[in-house]
Amino acid sequence: MIIEYRKKKGSDEWHFCTKCPNYPTEDYESWCGATRPPGGKMCEECILLEESNEKDCEPKIC
Ligand SMILES: [Zn+2]
Repeated sequence: MIIEYRKKKGSDEWHFCTKCPNYPTEDYESWCGATRPPGGKMCEECILLEESNEKDCEPKIC
C-alpha cells in the first residue's frame, strides 16, 4: 500500500496518520511510498496510532 507522508516545512518529522493531532494540513511537503520516507524521523504519535489500531491512523492512500 502506497501512502502519503507529510512533514511541515522546516520540520524533519514525517506524519502519515490523518488522525494524528499534528498531521500537517497546510504548508507541508508530501512524499508517497510503500516504505518510510528517506531522511528525517517519524512522528511517534503516528507510530503509536498505527500500532494501536489501523482505524485510528487512517493513512491517506496515494
Ligand atoms: Zn504524527
